Amino acid sequence: MAKKDYYEVLGVEKNATEQEIKKAYRKLAMKYHPDRNKDNKEAEEKFKEASEAYEVLSDADKKAQYDQFGHSAFENGGPGPGGFSGFSGGFGFDDISDILNGFGFGRAGGGQTAVRRGSDIRYTMDMTLEEIAAGVEKELKYRRKGKCTTCSGSGAEPGHKMNTCDKCNGSGQMRVQIRTIFGISTSIEPCDKCHGTGKIPEKECHVCHGSGVVRETTTKKVRIPAGVMNGMELNVPQAGDAGENNGEYGNLRIRIMEKKHPIFTRHDTDIHCEVPVELTTAIMGGEVEIPTLEGKTKIKIPEGTQSGKVFRLKDRGIPRLHSNYKGSEILEIKVEIPTGLTNKQKDLLKKFGDSLSDKNYKNSKSFFEKVKKFFGADA
Ligand SMILES: [Zn+2]
Ligand SMILES: [Zn+2]
Repeated sequence: MAKKDYYEVLGVEKNATEQEIKKAYRKLAMKYHPDRNKDNKEAEEKFKEASEAYEVLSDADKKAQYDQFGHSAFENGGPGPGGFSGFSGGFGFDDISDILNGFGFGRAGGGQTAVRRGSDIRYTMDMTLEEIAAGVEKELKYRRKGKCTTCSGSGAEPGHKMNTCDKCNGSGQMRVQIRTIFGISTSIEPCDKCHGTGKIPEKECHVCHGSGVVRETTTKKVRIPAGVMNGMELNVPQAGDAGENNGEYGNLRIRIMEKKHPIFTRHDTDIHCEVPVELTTAIMGGEVEIPTLEGKTKIKIPEGTQSGKVFRLKDRGIPRLHSNYKGSEILEIKVEIPTGLTNKQKDLLKKFGDSLSDKNYKNSKSFFEKVKKFFGADA
C-alpha cells in the first residue's frame, strides 16, 4: 500500500518551518480528533495519518531520514547501517496531548491507562538494637485494600459480562467543563462511571460493589537485614493497596525506628557503654561483668585502671548493612567512689591513705609539678 507523502498529509511545503508544521498538524488534529468524530472511521484514519506525519516531521533526525529515504527510512531494516528504529508502534493519543492541551483540548490521564495503581502503605517498625544487630524476620499484620477474590478484581459479578460504558461509550473518557477567569475551558478526564476502563459490569460484584478491591487484614513476612539505620525506609514491592479495577498493587514502605536502648548508645556500627567499676577492682584489677548485645560476659581489667579508660571489644557492635564488617563495643570505665562509709571504714581508709606516697600517685605528682613550674617556685 503506497503511503501518502508526509508533507502532503500535513499540507505543507517541503521547506516548511517547525512552526508551520506544528500549526498544520494542530489544525488537522483538532479537526479529526476522535473525541469530535465519534465512530467516524475516516476521521480516525486521517487523525492517525496526521499524527504519524507529525511525529516524523517534527523530529529533526527523523525528518532528515525521511527527506533522504522517504518512507523506506522507517521500514524494517531501515536504510543501511544503523537504520532507524522506526516507530514504537501505534500512535497513542497521549503523544499529542502536549500540543492539544494548549487548546483546552487535552487528555488528563490518557484513556485506558486511567486504571490506577494502588497506594503505597507506610508502616513504622520499631526495632531494638539487638534486632538491628542480628537482623530479623517479622510477620507484619496490617489493613490494606486487597483484590476482591469474588470477582478477581474485575468488579463484575461472576457469571455476568462486561458492558460498554454508556456514559463514555467505551472511550473511558469524559469531557469536563471548567470555569476559569478566562471563560469556560474543557478538559478530558477519565470517565467517572467506568473509572476510565470503558467498561462497566452488567452486574456489580456484590462483595466489592464494582471497585474490584476490598478492605482486608493481611500478613506479610518481611526480612529486615542486620545493620539498618534509624529512619531508613525499606520497600516491599506489591505489598501495598491493590489498584481499583485490576490496577497494580502499590508498595509497602517500612520505616525503621530504632528504639532507645537502656544501656547502649549507637554510633554508626559501634555501640558505646559506660561501665561502673568498684574502686578496689579498679585499684587491684579483676573481672568485671559487662553487657553485650548477645548477653552478659566478663572482661579482665588490669591493676590500676583509671576512670575514663576505654576498652574496645572487636566484633561486638553492629554489622554494616550488606557487608561482612562488624563494629565494636566501646566500654568506658567509670571508677565508682564508695559513699556512705562508716567511721571504721573511714579509719581504715585513712591508714591506707597515710601509707601511700607520691610513687602511688604518678598523675597527681606530675600534675602538681607542672602547676609549680607554671606559677613559679614561690607559689
Ligand atoms: Zn465510562
Ligand atoms: Zn468483587
